Amino acid sequence: MLFIKDILAEIEKIAPLALQEDYDNSGLMVGDVNQEVKGALLCLDITEEILKEAILKKYNLIISHHPIIFKGLKCLDPSTRIGKIIIDAVKHNVVLYAAHTNLDNAHLGVSYYLAQRLGLIQPVVLDPAKEGLRKLVTFCPVDFAEKVRSALFEAGAGHIGNYDSCSYNIDGTGTFRALGNSHPFVGQKGEIHYEAETRIEVIYPAYIEKSVIKSLKTAHPYEEVAFDIYNLQNENSFVGCGVVAELTQSTEASDFLNHVKNVLGLAAIKYSAKKRGKIKKVALCGGSGGFLINNAICSNADIYITGDLKYHDFTDYSHQIILADIGHFESEQFVREQIREILIKKFPTFAVSISESEESSVCFL
Ligand SMILES: [Zn+2]
Repeated sequence: MLFIKDILAEIEKIAPLALQEDYDNSGLMVGDVNQEVKGALLCLDITEEILKEAILKKYNLIISHHPIIFKGLKCLDPSTRIGKIIIDAVKHNVVLYAAHTNLDNAHLGVSYYLAQRLGLIQPVVLDPAKEGLRKLVTFCPVDFAEKVRSALFEAGAGHIGNYDSCSYNIDGTGTFRALGNSHPFVGQKGEIHYEAETRIEVIYPAYIEKSVIKSLKTAHPYEEVAFDIYNLQNENSFVGCGVVAELTQSTEASDFLNHVKNVLGLAAIKYSAKKRGKIKKVALCGGSGGFLINNAICSNADIYITGDLKYHDFTDYSHQIILADIGHFESEQFVREQIREILIKKFPTFAVSISESEESSVCFL
């Protein structure tokens, strides 16, 4: 039997909630996750129509990109849009869940997926996460170093950019004296023991710390496992906002913009035409990405594609980089397919569909 919590755990494996921005409210919004899942409907925003669609399909889970409860709610009033949706969801036992900035910031997140759909190659994070990396240093008998290292790697430690299994190792001598109630793995009680040990260093994102420590303690032979944890100041190039990627060959700006228009099915693109020339490097960010314009310029991208740009963004920056506003909804439209792919991969027979009733609230004449 498959439970709603199993479905959500699979999403959080790719997009851990710890990756969400401080202002966000990703995760469970409404409902009991300890029930059998009958099906999941995917959307960007939960509306009354989408809730009706889920009820009609007999699904009891809606996964949206934007959280329906974003700011604090002080009352649930059915005369308000959000109040009505939440009350109806509870009445019909439909669980509401959002994967928002945790999916934006995830490795292979929203912007990676968009870059992939646009045929871009060699994607890297545009604005890497500034904190959240830690280092674990542990000491184990030389003969157990391989086992302990493997366990740490298996738990997700030692991942740097496009490399995994990264560690630093040096051999030395550890000392200890086993006291009264101990059960020493080596050495005699009451005597100082000298053991040939390997010092192993690995980094990991803080949100996997529990499983890293658990794996360490399971693989390590000692009764008392010695380890140190350090907070690092390094950026985590693996996760963060936006992406910079490349076209397979330099392309005229107008040709590339037409390509974007076709792939995303856009009615129009707002763009700046002051800076001209061919495009090879592309920065992009799904959603409202105005806050990353400077990052895009610093990355030496030829164009920055996002949604919700302001008039003054165009006037202030259009001499430095081509800016293209493709629309908020349009830039995030593939999120639904992305979540669908994550779920289908793990649960091939699970009923998960993209909403048929969802469309952008913004129209073009
Ligand atoms: Zn958005």
